[in-house]
Amino acid sequence: MRPEVLFQLFSPVSKLTGIGPRLTALIEKLAGPNIIDLAWHLPVGLVTRHKVEHLTPDLVDQNIVVTLHIDQHHPSRNRRVPYKIQCHAGDTPLTLTFFNGREQYLRQQFPEGGERIVSGKLEEYAGVYQITHPDHVATRETMDTVPLFEPVYPLTAGLTNATFLKAARQFLPMLPDLPEWLDRSLLAREQWTGWKDSLLEAHAPKTEADFDRDAPARARLAYDELLANQLALELVRRSMKRKPGRSLPGTGDIRRKILNDLPFTLTAAQSSALQEIEEDMAGPHRMLRLLQGDVGSGKTVVALLAMAQAVEAGAQATIMAPTEILAHQHYNAIEPLAAKAGMTCMLVTGRLKGKKREEVLGALESGRVDLVVGTHALFQEDVRFHDLGLAIIDEQHRFGVHQRLALSAKGRDGKGGVDVLVMTATPIPRTLALTAYGDMDVSIIAEKPPGRKPVDTRAIDLSRLNDVAEGLDRKLAAGERIYWVCPLVEESQVLDVAAAEERFESLHHLYGDQVGLIHGRLKAEEKDETMQRFMTGEISVLVATTVIEVGVDVPEATVMIIEHAERFGLAQLHQLRGRVGRGGLPGTCLLLYSGPLSETQKARLGILRESEDGFRIAEEDLRLRGAGELLGTRQSGLPEFRLADLHAHSRLLAIARDDARLVLEKDQALETERGKALKILLYLFERDNAIKYLSG
Ligand code: ADP
Ligand code: MG
Repeated sequence: MRPEVLFQLFSPVSKLTGIGPRLTALIEKLAGPNIIDLAWHLPVGLVTRHKVEHLTPDLVDQNIVVTLHIDQHHPSRNRRVPYKIQCHAGDTPLTLTFFNGREQYLRQQFPEGGERIVSGKLEEYAGVYQITHPDHVATRETMDTVPLFEPVYPLTAGLTNATFLKAARQFLPMLPDLPEWLDRSLLAREQWTGWKDSLLEAHAPKTEADFDRDAPARARLAYDELLANQLALELVRRSMKRKPGRSLPGTGDIRRKILNDLPFTLTAAQSSALQEIEEDMAGPHRMLRLLQGDVGSGKTVVALLAMAQAVEAGAQATIMAPTEILAHQHYNAIEPLAAKAGMTCMLVTGRLKGKKREEVLGALESGRVDLVVGTHALFQEDVRFHDLGLAIIDEQHRFGVHQRLALSAKGRDGKGGVDVLVMTATPIPRTLALTAYGDMDVSIIAEKPPGRKPVDTRAIDLSRLNDVAEGLDRKLAAGERIYWVCPLVEESQVLDVAAAEERFESLHHLYGDQVGLIHGRLKAEEKDETMQRFMTGEISVLVATTVIEVGVDVPEATVMIIEHAERFGLAQLHQLRGRVGRGGLPGTCLLLYSGPLSETQKARLGILRESEDGFRIAEEDLRLRGAGELLGTRQSGLPEFRLADLHAHSRLLAIARDDARLVLEKDQALETERGKALKILLYLFERDNAIKYLSG
């Protein structure tokens, strides 16, 4: 239950005076549904007004506050001519100008012979000073309402800064006094003030320096957010670890057979990752490990060997992929090796239906199956294991923390928790790994199998598309295979598909039946079939939307062409490029871009040409764009931050992580005074989910 002291903050924005249904909808989209969301919506700019006595030429174009004596109204009889009010400030004349001004209203607001304090931008028009549409008008008595510093908020069409300011004047006084959840020594060291004061200060910038990410108020709020994130992850982690794990030592027999059958030896990086996994599984605690390895680093075989260890120990193992194609691919790669080593392996996807499904599920439950390769379909209630010991989740970023937990809940009662290994091909910068996977231990395969040649990466102007298309015949004659990835059309899968279909037509025109098409709107069967034909070489050119992005392995593929590469994220381009050059032949990646490119777009393509190091690329990607975008999708499973910037605040993140660990070590149920305050912090940042993992 959310603490009462936060109730008001979590009430809808429509509770504020002046926020009707229209504005509510706009604000919800821009900031969020509740008042707290407005509070997190910090200003991005500042209007500074100078209070002046006299008008001087150097003030032109500045925002001023000045006392005016009102002389005479000059109403307009013509829509195209503005309404003017002649005034003077000291000895200097000034005109107030209004377009479409209503006479009655203006006469009331600016009575002739009276005095008003007015603010606005000073202009000079035909040799006379003027202010057009003053932004504030006051009398001597109400003078204090004209702010000298006015924050400027991120806005959206239909929502003005004035509206936002009016809302801020209402919600800022609502901010409750909350107990301090930060360590005093940290506060002192960083020279931070309390949560409420920091938030008030962040909403009342006075200089440009106040917008700095390191400005104390902003840094404190960012830290709060990071701490809430780290505390939540640490709670999940501790609760997973607290459940007794089981020991799956294995005999090594099956693994030896597999290793003997492999046409290669493991790389040092594979071996050391495997050793970490082996120790985790053999140990009494529960494994919760992330295996990071760049595309093509050889994670699949590591997964297979880990699963073999579970089977040696008498348990079952499963590997779950995010798409049907990948599940099939894993199955095709794993099943023959498994069978040879004496393990039974089955495939469970959403397409498994009816009798066949019953059979497979029956075999699973009775323990006649050792390994299961599958998709999300494995989450279904009626999928029951005889004795699941190890769950591997491939390409984690499509799944979230809660799915991780759901899968590991498939273990057998009384046997101890399922060991969990998460594999991702997207190198995640250290900072991000901490926020998304802070609950896991990490192994990294930073080395690729020997013999891989670098992929020749070139950026080419889109105007040369036809040359590129016509130039493919040499590659095709040599039996090589080509991916052609079509542009990502913003927020519209329909348009993506249209673009892919069009490219398919034009390439089909050139190369006939050697060309295939695959996109997200096709049925899973159709996608698989086309993919299969590409793998076997029945077709040699695969036109695709980004559905091929993750993990697909076709060793004969040598050319990756990406249309409108400038629209893709860096990590995504790297993933796509990783699809080629996987066999013995060198790969080529052509990035077709449509200029002119922004500086950021240029930088992205440049990095890609320079480097094939996924970790470096990921760091650059993080620097060049927001973390939320990093993995290309909103459903990335990565938390989004409102106040923290993972690049700029990485130092704070590291502190938050240690802080979270330390706190829970000493106070695992969050019962001390600071602990109770931290609970409020979790609610404040809507990490309530984590609360249920608190141990009592
Ligand atoms: P990813 O990490 O991208 O999932 P895969 O597991 O699909 O990579 O491996 C890519 C290719 O490299 C596969 O064809 C696999 O058989 C091969 N491979 C894996 N490990 C090695 C190794 N140690 N030496 C040579 N080739 C390997
Ligand atoms: Mg893979």
